[in-house]
Amino acid sequence: MKGRVIQLDRGFPLVRLEQGDELRCQHATSLVKQHTVRATVGDLVDVDMSDDVDYGQIVSVYPRTTQLVRRDPSERELPQVLAANFDLVIVAHTVVDDNIRLLERELVVAYETGAHVAVALTKCDLVSPDERDVAYHLVKNMTAESVPVIPVSVSDSASIDHLRALIPPSSYAVLMGRSGVGKSSLVNELAGTDTQRTADVRAYDGKGRHTTVARSMVSVANGGSIIDMPGVRGLGMWNAEDGINRAFADIVAYAQECRFRDCRHGGEPGCAVRAAVDDGRIPIERLESYIRLRDENEQQTRRSEESKRASARGRRSR
Ligand code: GDP
Ligand code: ZN
Repeated sequence: MKGRVIQLDRGFPLVRLEQGDELRCQHATSLVKQHTVRATVGDLVDVDMSDDVDYGQIVSVYPRTTQLVRRDPSERELPQVLAANFDLVIVAHTVVDDNIRLLERELVVAYETGAHVAVALTKCDLVSPDERDVAYHLVKNMTAESVPVIPVSVSDSASIDHLRALIPPSSYAVLMGRSGVGKSSLVNELAGTDTQRTADVRAYDGKGRHTTVARSMVSVANGGSIIDMPGVRGLGMWNAEDGINRAFADIVAYAQECRFRDCRHGGEPGCAVRAAVDDGRIPIERLESYIRLRDENEQQTRRSEESKRASARGRRSR
């Protein structure tokens, strides 16, 4: 039977089958052996429920159209897919936050998914309209033309409707952003009710803080579905060169004019990027951020290739 993973709680996918039933599942042994395929929220899967009435067995995971990937936060050199098969990534960023460096990283990861990207500028009720406009233009200037930036606040239902319009019926969106930016509040407003599902997946972590532990999909009233991405601490990039180039399209454009094709913009002669920084066309912090993300991504790519080679050698010598 075919279905879609709508929640993931400690590795156990909850699958909504085509006829509407929801079934807690495990991965079939054949899949576990392959090691790399783990169903994630949004995945389309085939489920076998012949021998166990309580748990279904996920026997295959369909190829993904889009995926949100980060480096596995454990030390292993592996990617972790946080969500799959969505049309839009919404990055939530508060208007009261000036953490532009984090937003840059989030945009890299969002662009890398291959889906459309939007930014929700949250908690607009906490600032004056002028301050809101400043924040809006700041974000607008650092995103591609095609990226809608939507100022929202939970007390302003018209603003929620703007966001809702980006998630038409039968489409899927992913909501990402640092803890505390207002993601759960947005999801509740979009769902139109204080959904039990969001409440369900909340639990106390070891330090007594109230955190959300599971990723799950929620129906948007008069719209599609949204995947809340709680508790994602640290977004290590995974082969994110394309995402970086899109998030820093301004720098990439100037780099075309550098004297050396492989210029690293680290003080080489004839560097057009440094020239743009020197006369104020690119803020120095933005170039530093680009270089930091580029270097981190290159390091990660190198390490994962080394670890791939090492495990291939291990297999040959066995
Ligand atoms: P999450 O960790 O990203 O899911 O954030 P929450 O939805 O739990 O919100 C974090 C805090 O911000 C809570 O205290 C919310 O009440 C508050 N909050 C969320 N959205 C808004 C908003 O639009 N305006 C204001 N003033 N506070 C908000
Ligand atoms: Zn250069």
